[in-house]
Amino acid sequence: MGFRIYPLPRSLAQAMQADTKLRFHNYVVANYTRYPVCLVRGVGSRVWDDEGKEYLDFFPGWGCGILGHCPPRVVAAVQAQVAQLVHVPNTWHTEPQGLLAEALCLRTGWPGAQAFFCNSGTEANEAAIKMARLHGGPGRFKIITMLNSFHGRTMGSLAATGQPKYHAGLSPMLPGFAYAPFGDLDAVARLIDPETCAIMIEPIQGEGGVNLPPAGYIEGLREIADRHNLLLIFDEVQTGMGRTGKWFAHQHYSIQPDIVTLAKALAGGIACGGLIARPEVAQVLKPGTHAATFGGNPIACMAALATIETIEQEGLLTRATEIEALFRNRVEAIMPACPWVTGIRAMGTMIGIQLAVDGAPVVKACLERGLLVNCTHSTVIRLLPSLTLTDEELFQGCSILEEEIARLGQPTS
Ligand SMILES: *Cc1c(COP(=O)(O)O)cnc(C)c1O
Repeated sequence: MGFRIYPLPRSLAQAMQADTKLRFHNYVVANYTRYPVCLVRGVGSRVWDDEGKEYLDFFPGWGCGILGHCPPRVVAAVQAQVAQLVHVPNTWHTEPQGLLAEALCLRTGWPGAQAFFCNSGTEANEAAIKMARLHGGPGRFKIITMLNSFHGRTMGSLAATGQPKYHAGLSPMLPGFAYAPFGDLDAVARLIDPETCAIMIEPIQGEGGVNLPPAGYIEGLREIADRHNLLLIFDEVQTGMGRTGKWFAHQHYSIQPDIVTLAKALAGGIACGGLIARPEVAQVLKPGTHAATFGGNPIACMAALATIETIEQEGLLTRATEIEALFRNRVEAIMPACPWVTGIRAMGTMIGIQLAVDGAPVVKACLERGLLVNCTHSTVIRLLPSLTLTDEELFQGCSILEEEIARLGQPTS
């Protein structure tokens, strides 16, 4: 059997779908809630299942598809690189990793910044946690993170994640994390003791419900960190790579963090993680202190370079802000008639629609109508649309979404 199972005659495709579901049932660990849909092909903000049904994707790749599905420059870069050099370990220099490190560091604008590469968001945060402890020195190992945060699923990043539901059954957690409510500077200050070495935060909480920082909060964290000689670590795994209308979300504020972690959109859909650190922080990782076998591999790095090039050449940072405004207008227009829509929180293409009721029926109804959206923390409809989303696609999807949100107010029959 070939890998491409589309297009197929409908009956065959249906048989294939039944087979796929059966294989998952028999052979794949059931740790995800999966829709009963098998996706086979994507272009931009459109994706197709194995029955040929088309979907408009307002949540491509769970935030990884910042350029939508199969972005042409990324596809071409990967195709060229895969035929030239797939992988060599970090005992060698490779051109793509050097170019990507330079491209990212220059875009932070921090003098002397340096990059480290891995394969995922959680790994990027693990590296940041190690850096914070190494930088802190003997006896300084505690990190303050925020309630409702999400930093990943490996044991260090999980301990950093301030949501008890994700810790359930897994204790003992890695010690040394203390949690402050997001937005509360006094709470952060109260948690600091002589063993504290860092503050770690998502500048906008993503999984936690698209929570925007209150005015002055980010700057206040920098002040507190400076006063106590703590590192300020920004988890920009979701907010990075142009998502918010700037390369990195921290660039909306007048401060610099000490470490920024990245993944998700970094390589336009190819697995890639990394971090950027200020030079005095970067130098704590010496040979033997940390590594990632696949980190900075040529394919991922070429995909990331193609992603950066696309964002720049197509003016997509500006487009992120335009898309935000268009969504805002649409959602605000339905709010008077839908009092159960209590607000929209958005920065660029990171969008949360706050409902006063459960949002799951909206996700399900949209799926049936060919629109892919997400719901987090029960009541937040979360959208992470591609920066390449067209106006037509945006309006088409919003019409469906608005109708399904409006339906929440109807008495159930
Ligand atoms: C998704 C996410 C992670 C985890 O990334 P993985 O690649 O799944 O390990 C970490 N932090 C934030 C803010 C995220 O959104």
